[in-house]
Amino acid sequence: MDCCICSPMATMYRLPRNSVCAPCHEGAKAIIGFLNKDEEQEDGGHGSVNSHAPSKLNSSNKGMRDAWEQVKEMRDRAEETNQRAAFLEHGFALAWKEGIHTDIVVKPGTGAPIPAHKAILAARSEVFRHMLSADEHCKAPAADSFSLPELSHDELSLLLAFLYTGALDQDLPERHLHALLVAADKYDIPFLRRACEARLAARVEPRNVLRTLEVADLSSSAVLRERAMGTVLEHAEQVVFSPEYEGFAVRNAALCVEITRALLNKMSIGSPSCIDQDVYRALA
Ligand SMILES: [Zn+2]
Repeated sequence: MDCCICSPMATMYRLPRNSVCAPCHEGAKAIIGFLNKDEEQEDGGHGSVNSHAPSKLNSSNKGMRDAWEQVKEMRDRAEETNQRAAFLEHGFALAWKEGIHTDIVVKPGTGAPIPAHKAILAARSEVFRHMLSADEHCKAPAADSFSLPELSHDELSLLLAFLYTGALDQDLPERHLHALLVAADKYDIPFLRRACEARLAARVEPRNVLRTLEVADLSSSAVLRERAMGTVLEHAEQVVFSPEYEGFAVRNAALCVEITRALLNKMSIGSPSCIDQDVYRALA
């Protein structure tokens, strides 16, 4: 079909012979629907009250031209947001990398201490804020160092870099993501928690699922826990007969009970004999 929008011949609008292919029709409707929803959210769900506003797409006579105007506005807003984020990130990244006017030293469990800024630590984590202000309000002069003994030098460096820039390297090893997720939970840094959860959830597989489940449990990460438990059930034989399972069972008795129950549930749901029994009982 010679679609008047996407066909290579669609250079001009030819009344009354214009026809639109199904993908263009669906796409146009979806875009208009999406933008309407977006506007309703911006209005706090009172879209119909302001339906006379010029950029509104609710009324039937608004079409793709209005949608395009709105897309351009969104693009401009996104560009402005990106520039502002880049401006902030550049300054904080510079302060971090070059250690400009640092006023505290953070000591990891192993390796060299790392200089940082109290203000950044306090602004990013309520827990750090309390730790730092406790020093200030107490007797002795404010300490110029504090320790995070559960983190190695590299892990602490990644944590601090995240506090300054809000960014994580794409290809961080899993063990570092585990340490960062536990730190995000302990020091109450929700943005870091979400970043770690998303990366770890994308990498869950039978090979690493037990460690992931352990870390999810330790960091109270419901999303990751559910994802890992799903993988355990899906690959139960491979996981339960793996050499790591014994050590895991010794360390995590409660999780093993949960796995056993979930497996039995899954088996009873999947077993035809049980289904038959239920059916017989229902019929009796
Ligand atoms: Zn088309």
